[in-house]
Parts: sequence; C-alpha cells; structure tokens
Amino acid sequence: MSKFLLPALPYNENSLSPIISSATVDLHYGKHHQAYYTMLNNLIENSEYENMSLDEIVIKSFQEKQQKIFNNAGQAWNHNLYWNQMSPNGKTIIQSKLSSKIEESFESFDNFVQQFTTASLGVFGSGWTWLVEKDNTLAIMGLPNAENPLAYNQHALMGIDVWEHAYYLDYKNLRGDYVKAILENLINWDFVENRLT
Ligand code: MN
Repeated sequence: MSKFLLPALPYNENSLSPIISSATVDLHYGKHHQAYYTMLNNLIENSEYENMSLDEIVIKSFQEKQQKIFNNAGQAWNHNLYWNQMSPNGKTIIQSKLSSKIEESFESFDNFVQQFTTASLGVFGSGWTWLVEKDNTLAIMGLPNAENPLAYNQHALMGIDVWEHAYYLDYKNLRGDYVKAILENLINWDFVENRLT
C-alpha cells in the first residue's frame, strides 16, 4: 500500500505555456515528480520512516544521512512547493508585506530577480534556488540536488528547480532565462506571501 500520493497540480498541464511547455510539465510532474513519490513509498515501507509526515522524513533522513530516502523525500517536498507556488495567472508583484520585505532585503524587486538568477547560475550541476525567511529578513540560498531549507531548519518561501529536466526542453542550456521567466511571469506572489511567518 502506498503511503504518499502525488498531489494534483493546481492547474492544467498546458496552462503554464509558453513559459513552461505542457511537454515539460508532462515529463517533470508526470514522470519525475511521480517517480520520487514511488521511490519514497518503496524505500520507507516497513522502516522507521513509515508513519512519519513528509516534513519529518525530510528532516530525519537528512540528519541521519539516509541519502536515498532523503533524495526522494526532499524531491517530493521540493516539487510540491514548486508547482504550488506557480499560477497560470502569475502576475507582477504588487505593493504588499512581501514586496516590502523584498525591497528591504534586496533593495528592489529588480535587484532580487537579478540576485536570484545569478544564484541559480551559481548552482553547479543539479539543484535548487530558494527564497528563505530568516529572522526578519529574506535571503537566497542555492543548494545541490534534493537539499532544501527544511533540512537546514530554515523556512522556504519559494524554490526554483534548476535541474536540467526542469528547463532543457524549453530553454536548452539557458538556465538564467528560465529562472527569470518564472520570476517575472508565473509566480503566484499571494501564495509566497502566505508562507511568511
Ligand atoms: Mn525537478
């Protein structure tokens, strides 16, 4: 019996197009994200992880260096945030508590986009770029592979997947263009703001 089920997308597979094509969503969500769930369920069966929440598994497997479990739990968690933070009607950020925090932390929204994109290009190989809230400020973290802020006891507001599977069909090698296009067109800023503590 599988414990965790891949959550449904909050929109149709073709509705992020042309920023993210339906072919990419079909593979990325339907194959990659699904595979992390399938692997996770297989790995935790009859283990001490079997009855934990996904968050608990991410934290504990990272602490205990259970790398296979962490990789799959981390990626299941990461992609849940990834899909949920986007919207076909993603809009430019408006004056809000979140926009004020971004301006305090990065001087301006444009500077934030620039720094987030630069950090994304700085992730060597596969990984993620994260916006985290710590103390009363916001920061950008680039992390390898499946690692996420939760594993480091930090609070993620947003995360962009910079594994090649996330952008190669649509952007080829242009990772920076992919990241910038998401930040400027697809992020549901209300969702991100609701994650502020
Ligand atoms: Mn991915």
